[in-house]
Amino acid sequence: MSELQSRDPEVYDAIEKEVERQNNGLELIASENFVSRSVLEALGTALTNKYAEGLPGKRYYGGCQFVDVVEDVARDRAKRLFKCDWVNVQPHSGASANASVYLTFMEPGDTFLGLDLAHGGHLTHGSAVNFSGILYNAEYYGVEKDGPLAGTIDMNKVRDKALAVRPKMISIGASAYPRDFDYKAFRDIADEVGAVLWMDMAHTAGLIATGALNDPLPHCHVVSTTTHKTLRGPRGGMLLVGRDYENTMGKTAPKSGRLKMTSELLDSAVFPGMQGGPLMHSVAAKAVSFREALEPDFGAYIDAVVRNASAMATAFVSKGYSLVSGGTSNHLMLIDLRNKGISGKDAEAALQKAEITVNKNMVPFDDRSPFVTSGIRVGTPAMTTRGFGEDEFKTVVDLIDRVLTNPTDDNAIASVRGEVHELCARHPLYDFVIS
Ligand SMILES: *Cc1c(COP(=O)(O)O)cnc(C)c1O
Repeated sequence: MSELQSRDPEVYDAIEKEVERQNNGLELIASENFVSRSVLEALGTALTNKYAEGLPGKRYYGGCQFVDVVEDVARDRAKRLFKCDWVNVQPHSGASANASVYLTFMEPGDTFLGLDLAHGGHLTHGSAVNFSGILYNAEYYGVEKDGPLAGTIDMNKVRDKALAVRPKMISIGASAYPRDFDYKAFRDIADEVGAVLWMDMAHTAGLIATGALNDPLPHCHVVSTTTHKTLRGPRGGMLLVGRDYENTMGKTAPKSGRLKMTSELLDSAVFPGMQGGPLMHSVAAKAVSFREALEPDFGAYIDAVVRNASAMATAFVSKGYSLVSGGTSNHLMLIDLRNKGISGKDAEAALQKAEITVNKNMVPFDDRSPFVTSGIRVGTPAMTTRGFGEDEFKTVVDLIDRVLTNPTDDNAIASVRGEVHELCARHPLYDFVIS
């Protein structure tokens, strides 16, 4: 029996049940993944005790000689993984990393241009209930409703919008966009209007690291990410600069006769700008996950994630489901359920009864509210980590279809649940509760 189990059964029991839930169910939330035991072990260490404000070699506290090693290793690996000049591995989360981007390049009230939240964008790209929408003036570009570009971004319209609103910053990146981005075209627009170009690759970092998607780093002034989605590390964030350069657009006036580098501005926006002490146990776990991502295995994993998503998309389409943009080029797809007579909310709830976890999601030009929605978002990263291949994912589509065509039939749902458990049992996940 673990120390935690005997001392605090209340918390232990809930943890045990959550691990069981992860072991037994189909996890199709596109932003989730399963980390390795090594990553979990690094997270559960005494590094959580250490204050390490500042950067390696320049800390505000004593006793940092070993956490310095950890953070240096994390930074070196991240730079190798993304072939970039500079990273900061301290952001506690994706949202926290993004806050540092705004703090670096924008003054409150400044205008930025990002992907419409209702078209796949993220809360931190200007939602009215998020700091980004409260402090800054958000303008949007979106995806096309019809025509050959339906469901995708028309770069001519992005340019028109940028020329009209003259943003100080343009953001790229999404939480529910099934296609890739043309970073060169975005950069040309940013240069034309004198804007900073920022890519938030929170969802796609793993695919970008292995070359499965276009690389934003040669084109963007700054890139932010989470570390826990397709990158398969611990929950956290990171900032990257492809090619560091003297910053002419940041708000900081030249000090001591020279312009600051973008990387210096970003470092100070993370600390002391946004955060206090970094979570060093999490930084250690990030280092471990970056090592895993540098191995050839990870390239094979990402290839499988993308192949599996394509196979799933094809299977959905053959069953009469309508996919935003007609399919996927990455790890996720957005299913528009309007022709199926079920809302995203009801679909999510019915699938949950069969222990199939997805999330309801707005589709572009949705007529339902964000609490109901007309779609669901489905992704392959987590179940691919468990070893699911194309055959398993085709079976998963069959199971989803059986639930969505009989959403109130408890017997049908119970039989799907039984098959979900069998499928999961053939691809074991965690055989421990506490690592
Ligand atoms: C997930 C996500 C984030 C936020 O990450 P958190 O760690 O949940 O704060 C930011 N941007 C995009 C595009 C995301 O998908």
